[in-house]
Amino acid sequence: MKLEGTSYQIQGVDLLNVANEFGSPVYVYDADKIVKQYKQLSAAFKGVDLKLKYACKALTNISILKLLKKQGCGLDTVSIQEVMLGLEAGYEPHEILYTPNCVSFDEIQRAVKIGVQINIDNISILEQFGDAYGSTIPVCIRLNPHIMAGGHSHISVGHIDSKFGISIHQVPHLVRVVKTYDIRVNGLHMHTGSDILDAEVFLTGADLLFNVASEFKDLEFMDFGSGFKVGYRPGDVTTDIKSLGEKITKRFKEFCSEYGRKLELWFEPGKYLVSESGYFLVQANVIKQTTSTVFVGVDSGQNHLLRPKLYDAYHTITNLSNAAGTKRIYSVVGYICETDTLAYDRQLNEVREGDILAIHNAGAYAISMSSNYNSRYRPAEVLIYKGKAHLIRKRETFEDLTRNQVVIDI
Ligand SMILES: *Cc1c(COP(=O)(O)O)cnc(C)c1O
Repeated sequence: MKLEGTSYQIQGVDLLNVANEFGSPVYVYDADKIVKQYKQLSAAFKGVDLKLKYACKALTNISILKLLKKQGCGLDTVSIQEVMLGLEAGYEPHEILYTPNCVSFDEIQRAVKIGVQINIDNISILEQFGDAYGSTIPVCIRLNPHIMAGGHSHISVGHIDSKFGISIHQVPHLVRVVKTYDIRVNGLHMHTGSDILDAEVFLTGADLLFNVASEFKDLEFMDFGSGFKVGYRPGDVTTDIKSLGEKITKRFKEFCSEYGRKLELWFEPGKYLVSESGYFLVQANVIKQTTSTVFVGVDSGQNHLLRPKLYDAYHTITNLSNAAGTKRIYSVVGYICETDTLAYDRQLNEVREGDILAIHNAGAYAISMSSNYNSRYRPAEVLIYKGKAHLIRKRETFEDLTRNQVVIDI
């Protein structure tokens, strides 16, 4: 988003015009930013066979999936429905990694039939898998190296009590199961959680995986998940992709020569690819002065953007309608009958009723976590692509609320 005079623009498209044309609230994504992030990440890992698998739970709109496919990206999915969305977007089954957690074996069998790469994260399911397929279907194993990443307890998935992955301490048993059923392990995987700040955390986990790799002779790839951190708050420390890339590339090449074969290096970025591309445009419905606070009440809330409520996430906000206005301090709250504060104590250019605000970093885990709570419609989505605003999801209507309800005679 760029400020030209008093107009905030993406690729020359005035965001106020987008709000006018498509209504508010509306999610807007900048295709150029997604492509830029993809290229930046790809460029950081030179000289290795890199495969990026977009973790599409961050944002599953089919047009976004198509945009990333066009760049050469694969897909990381966590449900059979995400697999189906990937196919709908034109991905080949072999480009899709399926990394479920606690799903039924039936669902895994459906994924096998489709032909996607299976990633298994517990021994019980692995035994069922071995029993059903033996060595006929290759499988990736998700390990938990118990590396603590990031500062927020909700998004650290590598610790000892985590439900994710097979513990690195269980490797001897894992190897027994693999041998017993003659399972063909073609990949090792770890995803230590969101927000990895320095290369050392990554490399500590990676080294643990490299150490156990010698137990598996059929490896084709190593998948180090994600955790690439982007800035949400001004001054936030973000992952230094270039330096991380150099360090991991070097270590990975050494590992491949020890292992005796060149493997593919996989990552599954979600947030890194799409977070900063997104802006959520909302309208200020009311300005409410209480004894201690000036509230801006907007036409949205935790139903559309849950992260502030769920994770205490900080999202920068800009008043698009008053770029030159005097700065004043506000708390921005939603219209849901809950305490759904979107932002505390923010300096914004003076907000007047009717102004359009842009909530930043609204590409990842934003609309994909939205709900119909308070019987509100989910917003529309717009993609700015090649200098034009394209509607990529319609706003819901009353029919969406009633469609699956079965009204009985009472
Ligand atoms: C959510 C998830 C990711 C993506 O994490 P980001 O922080 O959005 O990059 C990658 N891999 C797996 C297995 C995930 O569950």
